[in-house]
Amino acid sequence: PLSFAPLMARFKASESTEAGARARALRAEGHHVVDFSIGEPDFPVPANVKEAIKQALDGDDTHYTNTGGTLELIDAVRAKLLRENGLEYGRDQIIIGSGAKSVMYHAFACTVGEGDEVIVPVPYWISYPNQVRIAGGTPVFVECGADGGFQLDVAAIEAAITPRTRWLVLNSPNNPTGAMLSDATLAELAEMLARHPHVLIMSDEIYEHLRYGGAVHRSIATLGEGIKARTLVVNGVSKSYAMTGLRIGYGAGPAELVKAMVKLQTQTTSCASSLGQAGAVAALNASHDDVAARRAVMAQRRDYLAQRLAGIPGLSVRAPEGSMYFFCDCRGLLGKTTPQGARLESDLDFVRYLLDQYKLVVIQGSAYGCPGFFRISFATSQENLEEGSARLRDACAALG
Ligand code: PLP
Repeated sequence: PLSFAPLMARFKASESTEAGARARALRAEGHHVVDFSIGEPDFPVPANVKEAIKQALDGDDTHYTNTGGTLELIDAVRAKLLRENGLEYGRDQIIIGSGAKSVMYHAFACTVGEGDEVIVPVPYWISYPNQVRIAGGTPVFVECGADGGFQLDVAAIEAAITPRTRWLVLNSPNNPTGAMLSDATLAELAEMLARHPHVLIMSDEIYEHLRYGGAVHRSIATLGEGIKARTLVVNGVSKSYAMTGLRIGYGAGPAELVKAMVKLQTQTTSCASSLGQAGAVAALNASHDDVAARRAVMAQRRDYLAQRLAGIPGLSVRAPEGSMYFFCDCRGLLGKTTPQGARLESDLDFVRYLLDQYKLVVIQGSAYGCPGFFRISFATSQENLEEGSARLRDACAALG
């Protein structure tokens, strides 16, 4: 048998990717599956982006680009950050990577060594702790639970800071909770971080454009030059422009850090895809009508699902302010028994019951460090939302 490097034992495969694979397998067996695990918008790429990619292809723009990204895309990112976020960066402060995921991994790999710590608020996006582990560091988890509406517990984060802390990871709008950092929490964070100047801040803002009910997105990097100088803003075109498969993300931060990440990229990916970069330029430079129209569709789906889920006994659900997920509390169902005679001991038992008996795919909260919850994605059609929420209601009602 093959033997693997020690790092392979340090992390797990992405559980959300696996849920998608289970859904596809059941579908292949002929089941009518409703997949509420999808982590990407179900829209096509905007027409202007398609056109730009076709033109790039016809123009033979299919060669390696600058390692850190094309100047056109770097400038489009700078213009976007200035226009939408009020953040000014030089060209040497931007890196283009193969998705936001890759940007974050390169940042960790450049800065985190054996014994270094990264503070990850819980619940978390699955890749943060695993990327830290792959880089050789230790994720330090801080509970920021449902009881506080999933706002960050700044005092608890401060208590977790040690001399070995390299990063604090922020994610707003949040996957999986849908929470957004309030102005009050941001101000509290900035004040606390001023006392710990050795801590870098990774601010994952990939769901920035998916926000509802008048919620405002503000980057922590806008809270003063001191904070900005230690923050890597991470964003990309995957979620805002439904460009997940084109794999373009970006980071904006201190020039020294960006330089190190570009150095690493010379030995890992060489550069992000040239066609993806051409598409991303078109996406970022376009008018935002597409983004606004899609947000309106997502807002309708969110409102619909909020209303459907509210009526299900045993579940406790709050509508998300942003992202594309409901993070539902199913602790009220644990201890109950299925019609098949199985006792539900955990969120995972519940999720398996939904999958086996109702062919409904959701993701267990424990995958995000938060047992007793499960995540529903509403990046799916109205028809699926109707059918899936009906299955969920029936599944809960059948428990004794
Ligand atoms: N950050 C969060 C919170 C995400 O949920 C995702 C995708 O699921 C990403 C980053 C990855 O984005 P990209 O497709 O740009 O790698």
